[in-house]
Amino acid sequence: MGLIGGGAIPRPGEVSLAHNGVLFLDELPEFPRNVLEVMRQPLEDGTVCIARAAMSLTFPARFMLAAAMNPCPCGFHNDRTRECHCTPPMIQRYISKISGPLLDRIDIHIDVPAVNYKEMRSTTEPESSARILERVIRAREIQLTRFASGREKLYCNAQMPPQSIRKFCELSADCERLIERAMAQQGLSARAHDRILKVARTIADLDGIPQLEPKHIAEAIQYRTLDRTFWA
Ligand SMILES: [Zn+2]
Repeated sequence: MGLIGGGAIPRPGEVSLAHNGVLFLDELPEFPRNVLEVMRQPLEDGTVCIARAAMSLTFPARFMLAAAMNPCPCGFHNDRTRECHCTPPMIQRYISKISGPLLDRIDIHIDVPAVNYKEMRSTTEPESSARILERVIRAREIQLTRFASGREKLYCNAQMPPQSIRKFCELSADCERLIERAMAQQGLSARAHDRILKVARTIADLDGIPQLEPKHIAEAIQYRTLDRTFWA
């Protein structure tokens, strides 16, 4: 039934099958643009509406979206070792398949450079997955406690509506200045602003720190790299 769902008698698509789970889309720009645009509704309100002449059905679609894309059609743009042969218009056409409004609805954008041989052979121990899992479980528990007494059914920071963001992401004057400057310099949208606060809240939870600090805000701002690339 495809990503969104459909058919003469509407059936759920992958966005609904991934409800309360993870939806991974590899090679994001390869998806037809109109399909990607329809993703905006579920990313915003956790539902997808399929309209037909006879009926219109709404399916649940609250999923964690993980998506991957190359920096250009050949994949080597900005690579430290291989040369990219794409022309600027080719790169522009490739990345512009992902619209600004869709990117706006994605919490974290990260550039993942290729790992070189020296890094691969490095003997320094990274934090183990088991340790990271412990931190994630602790951060999740903090969030469950945070929202336990609320009237809305919230389970994690990502679900916070604007009034909860104001309540649980209180900003010191330093934090306020930092985010104001980033908004002005990077031309971030109001939606990106809210996402930065929610991600910063989660970074602080992973650290086990109740009050947001400038370093949490600064890290969350770092995760808007595609806003900068596309909107600059
Ligand atoms: Zn290229």
